[in-house]
Amino acid sequence: MSAAFRASLAALALGLTLGAWSDRGPGAPSPERRDGWYVLEADLHAHTRFSDGLLSPFDLTVHARRQRLHVLGVTEHNMVFPAQLARWFARHTGGPIVLVGEEITSAPYHVHAFGIEDRVLPRRSLDAVIDAVHAQGGVVIAAHPVAHFWPALLPVRHRLDGAEILHPIALRAPREGWDWAQMESFFQGSLAQGHRLTAVGASDYHGFSPLGLCRTLLFAREPTERGALDALREGRTVVVDHRGVSWGDPALVASLRARPYRSVARAGGYPSSGALDRVGRALGLAGLLGVTFTRRRRS
Ligand SMILES: [Zn+2]
Ligand SMILES: [Zn+2]
Repeated sequence: MSAAFRASLAALALGLTLGAWSDRGPGAPSPERRDGWYVLEADLHAHTRFSDGLLSPFDLTVHARRQRLHVLGVTEHNMVFPAQLARWFARHTGGPIVLVGEEITSAPYHVHAFGIEDRVLPRRSLDAVIDAVHAQGGVVIAAHPVAHFWPALLPVRHRLDGAEILHPIALRAPREGWDWAQMESFFQGSLAQGHRLTAVGASDYHGFSPLGLCRTLLFAREPTERGALDALREGRTVVVDHRGVSWGDPALVASLRARPYRSVARAGGYPSSGALDRVGRALGLAGLLGVTFTRRRRS
């Protein structure tokens, strides 16, 4: 091993260590108080590597903290233990509030359960799934209710607790089967029938889009897991969509219109966080180049 190669390896290791050290993120600031509620910024749809996501439950939690989310809903396909792992980790490392969820997934429907501890397996009857979640005290939220899922969802829409009204598909051109306008019409159809679904905005985070891109404002009695769950259960949410239209509890929407809420969460790319971060990145990059270059020379 040449001296140059050893130096490059050392620079790479130091860069990685500094990067990990400087990139912990300050976490979300204290939630704003408004009309007696705590306003919690939540992303309620995220996957981990236990199914089709990229990050571990621990990394996902750290990432949510970095994005300054107050609340993260972990919703793995037909599993709850990754969400429970994330919650355990978050409780011991300074947040955020993790809601244990499950994306109960089968070909005819995807619905989220929150407030459950035992997983609910998908069944042929969505009525039976709703019963099973409610029996645990949980809530059921339709995930990305585009028309493809309507044959299963529409007969039970009046029994659902909520539905996603904002999802990253709103931000891109409609593709076969993934048209945001259909989600909007699912939501409004329910309103027209007198059933106001709890409005949820969520990113369906798998690893390549920004976590927190689509969010829900929860108006909670207390800034805790229980407070967040009760807000979902009792419909105290507001979602501002990509056009600036607000969905959710009418009184809260009116309150936000009178006095707009300034978001504290952040979405998007990776900002530099000080000198240590820049030095770490420079060392890491130099180390990587050095390792690549000196290895090539040796062969
Ligand atoms: Zn889904
Ligand atoms: Zn999903």
